[in-house]
Amino acid sequence: MAGTGVRVDLLSDTVTVPTAGMRRAMADAEVGDDVFGEDPTVRALEEETAALLGHEAGLFCPTGSLANQLGLRLHTGPGREVIADSLAHILRAELGAAATFSGITSRTWTSVAGRADPETVLGLMLPGADAYQVSTALIALENTHNFAGGTIQPYAALAAIREGSRPHGVAMHLDGARLWNAHVATGVSMAAYGGMVDTVSVCLSKGLGAPVGSVLVGSRAAMAEARVWRKRYGAGMRQVGILAAAGRYAVTHHLDRLADDHARARRFAEAAAEVAPGIVTVADVETNIVLLDVGVIGRAAAEVVAGFAERGVRCYAMAPTKVRLVWHLDVDDAGTDIAIAAARATLFTP
Ligand SMILES: *Cc1c(COP(=O)(O)O)cnc(C)c1O
Repeated sequence: MAGTGVRVDLLSDTVTVPTAGMRRAMADAEVGDDVFGEDPTVRALEEETAALLGHEAGLFCPTGSLANQLGLRLHTGPGREVIADSLAHILRAELGAAATFSGITSRTWTSVAGRADPETVLGLMLPGADAYQVSTALIALENTHNFAGGTIQPYAALAAIREGSRPHGVAMHLDGARLWNAHVATGVSMAAYGGMVDTVSVCLSKGLGAPVGSVLVGSRAAMAEARVWRKRYGAGMRQVGILAAAGRYAVTHHLDRLADDHARARRFAEAAAEVAPGIVTVADVETNIVLLDVGVIGRAAAEVVAGFAERGVRCYAMAPTKVRLVWHLDVDDAGTDIAIAAARATLFTP
């Protein structure tokens, strides 16, 4: 539970707690030893998620970080590189795992609002480099882009990056922790997004509201290899159908309602932009995340976060002048009204 005094928790979409229906599904789950491939609920989740994303096979993982790092591991290795956005979760928020576990080096591109520009990405790519330079083995994309404020990668850009990289044998991994949100916001199918890349990770524990879990999908051969690496990293799990059941329940019952989170985030952003013009570009609030640039009104993020906290709203100081607020299953219209009132009081400059 959030700390005392928190009435509306917008810290992250990971703060949700399982619903009564989800808990029942967990309690009723049929289970077995998944290390031996004998958990029917895990297998069902893996197969359903793979099919949804247009891939052959899936692998249930305890975290999105592990699913991403297995994806990176499959396509690269010591002395080869991944290229990604400078604010990519795989490089900024997974504690250097690609370098630590897999000896992978990285270079980054910068973007406007997190949207990958094909010319920039393909210009950075250096496959089959000479004896002195590191060869690019993988392009990693994030959709939606967390630290850029939940922005969506335009489909045409994804297609152009795929088309430009494939002839060079450069693989693509998609960090789709919130691909669900991109799908609901754009109407582009999960399979269409999945078809653009070699591997995808999706989180069940973000806005969908499961307590834990991510799924990595890809080819049958790739997932067999990822399964070995997952066990090697110490994440071979046993009767985790209990957790997979929560994930299946989330996809069945909580996917369409992500549209409500998007509408509430947009409504909040409009109100914030009204009281403090320039603090947020409302058109960039495409999904469930609002990123406030409080530097525009000469304020520090920590101070603004404290102002919201005084009014019962918890949010996150993402950078010295950036405040992030994230909508999810446990925040309704009334909670959004409270957040808007807190924004009016906190951001108002006489
Ligand atoms: C949350 C998140 C992940 C996975 O995080 P875990 O805490 O390891 O589950 C990966 N990528 C992005 C963009 C995320 O927001």
